[in-house]
Amino acid sequence: MADAAETSIKVVCRFRPLNKAEVARGDKYIPKFQGEDCVQIAGKPYYFDRVFQSNTTQVQFYNAVAQKIVRDVLDGYNGTIFAYGQTSSGKTHTMEGNLHDTDMMGIIPRIVQDIFNYIYSMDENLEFHIKVSYFEIYLDKIRDLLDVSKTNLSVHEDKNRVPYVKGCTERFVCTPEEVMDAIDEGKNSRSVAVTNMNEHSSRSHSIFQINIKQENTQTESKMTGKLYLVDLAGSEKVGKTGAEGTVLDEAKMINKSLSSLGNVISALAEGSSYVPYRDSKMTRILQDSLGGNCRTTMVICCSPSSFNDAETRSTLLFGQRAN
Ligand code: ADP
Ligand code: MG
Repeated sequence: MADAAETSIKVVCRFRPLNKAEVARGDKYIPKFQGEDCVQIAGKPYYFDRVFQSNTTQVQFYNAVAQKIVRDVLDGYNGTIFAYGQTSSGKTHTMEGNLHDTDMMGIIPRIVQDIFNYIYSMDENLEFHIKVSYFEIYLDKIRDLLDVSKTNLSVHEDKNRVPYVKGCTERFVCTPEEVMDAIDEGKNSRSVAVTNMNEHSSRSHSIFQINIKQENTQTESKMTGKLYLVDLAGSEKVGKTGAEGTVLDEAKMINKSLSSLGNVISALAEGSSYVPYRDSKMTRILQDSLGGNCRTTMVICCSPSSFNDAETRSTLLFGQRAN
């Protein structure tokens, strides 16, 4: 297997703290941390590029995991950051956090701030064009979160064979506030169409895309970088008994899309000559932002509770396969 340092794929693991209900129930705190790259569950070690303990702050996590990717995207590379894990393991906390609280902001708002700080610091000969899209994949259908009338978009390829979501809203933004407004709007349209937002968000993948085009007005040289920020559907297994109808369909779709994502990531990590991008809509969309010259980071989010022992091990194994 290729050394993580030589590949463009990084896998990091983050444990959240025990929550109040878990403490009240008397759950045990099961991870044991060893150095910066290893966590043990019941004596079995799991290795990652980095492991983050429960007391890691949002800013510490951002600085260690995402900051470098932002710089690379501004240098014209494409990148993707995923959050993977069972429902309630900290995916949304990691990707979004509290969008309007300086300490509790997750990766996305910090990335947005960093991008604009960079732009404001550059000289006047550089012109920036930034656009964002925000969509979700639910039951294998792509829904535009910036235009709720678009509920079943399809994936196409442009003349350079770069895949894209046809007809998806691309919003040009000039300030960090405009990006935050777009995120708030998208989150809002995500929740109004469903009866239970928590259930829905645990069964759909949400994908936020930032596209940065730079143009040097003197030399007329151009450069584009693109970043996908993906909050994946919950990875938990749906019980075999009792699940039927929509719940079963959802579970099948989620399992299929997460396992095809796992196959793509592990093929890339192994330097395999065949990467099965075409097996799912998500991997097709992300194709030109995964592996190769791209920056890809998978954040494996875990619960520390003995109650979630089995799911945590299966989450860690998924991350190991990709590493
Ligand atoms: P998911 O998106 O995976 O379903 P959430 O991100 O919504 O999970 O997290 C579930 C709960 O745990 C939320 O209330 C969140 O604020 C809290 N939480 C998650 N990760 C952390 C963390 N690292 N530190 C403190 N609280 C966290
Ligand atoms: Mg969530």
